[in-house]
Amino acid sequence: ATPVLSVRNLRVEFPLRRGTLSAVDDLSFDIAAGEVLGVVGESGAGKSLTGAAVIGLLEPPGRIGGGEVRLHGERIDNLPPSRMRKIRGRHIGMVFQDPLTSLNPLFTIGEQLVETIVTHTGLGAAAARRRAIDLLAEVGIPAPAERVDSYPHQFSGGMRQRAVIALALCAEPQLVIADEPTTALDVSVQAQIIAVLKRICAEHGAAVMLITHDMGVIAETADRVAVMYAGRLAEIGPVDAVVRHARHPYTQGLMGSIPKLDSEEARLVQIDGAMPRLTAIPPGCAFHPRCPHAFDRCHVDRPEPMPAGRTDMACWLALQDAVPEALAEGRS
Ligand code: SF4
Ligand code: MG
Repeated sequence: ATPVLSVRNLRVEFPLRRGTLSAVDDLSFDIAAGEVLGVVGESGAGKSLTGAAVIGLLEPPGRIGGGEVRLHGERIDNLPPSRMRKIRGRHIGMVFQDPLTSLNPLFTIGEQLVETIVTHTGLGAAAARRRAIDLLAEVGIPAPAERVDSYPHQFSGGMRQRAVIALALCAEPQLVIADEPTTALDVSVQAQIIAVLKRICAEHGAAVMLITHDMGVIAETADRVAVMYAGRLAEIGPVDAVVRHARHPYTQGLMGSIPKLDSEEARLVQIDGAMPRLTAIPPGCAFHPRCPHAFDRCHVDRPEPMPAGRTDMACWLALQDAVPEALAEGRS
């Protein structure tokens, strides 16, 4: 089946005084209907830029410098802004970190849901209101028939994010982009919100791109995981393979400790050194200055993602697994 979202060789670039900076480079992945792809990496790895590029909301001067984005096989990376706006409203739902960026404080939750439903589904106002109440029930808002007439400020942070999920799904989108959807919430409600997002997207058959730096969220939510480092794909594969049997040295470091969703433990994993500035990405493998396994080739040749067991990884060690003698030759 055609994937809902297909990204091929995506490059996001920023013009510099001399030349351009590639903040996302040669990134490829697919997301199928009903599947959650977790996109994970340290801050500055290019996760949010990738999400913004997919939905046509890159802030200038950032721009797509190469590659393709397809929604159900149709190119969407080269559409006029007005057409892209329609596609976002109808086919792509968005859930961002701060629910207040998605909700208008001057209108009730119900008014916002009804307007979106009427605009994008053609339902009449009365049917749209019934649908809004159903959706609020689906995302776990108690007494939805009464709460539908509340204003955003009358909801708690967790309830607001539930309302945003309802808003993101009310036009029955094929794709949902969730960028750090629980980061602003109390730890105690994060797991509930993630569970709601996952369940409701599965029920609606939506493909989900879940962007987060939180390994606990990834481990409990994603079907597949894409690990990004310095704007590039480091490793991609099924969640248990990436989280529990990571092959890429960067992924191994990142997955070193996965705190439970309901714990207060620090959520950032420590790996020695820092991710390079995008203006100073090292040649060869971008991870080589921090990699405990780096060898000569890593300093000069950039690895592309290649099959390594159950994942694909951009690491020369993949060759060592597959064809040990080839690597032995390369080393001599
Ligand atoms: Fe480490 Fe080399 Fe693999 Fe990069 S290619 S992750 S430097 S072993
Ligand atoms: Mg981000």
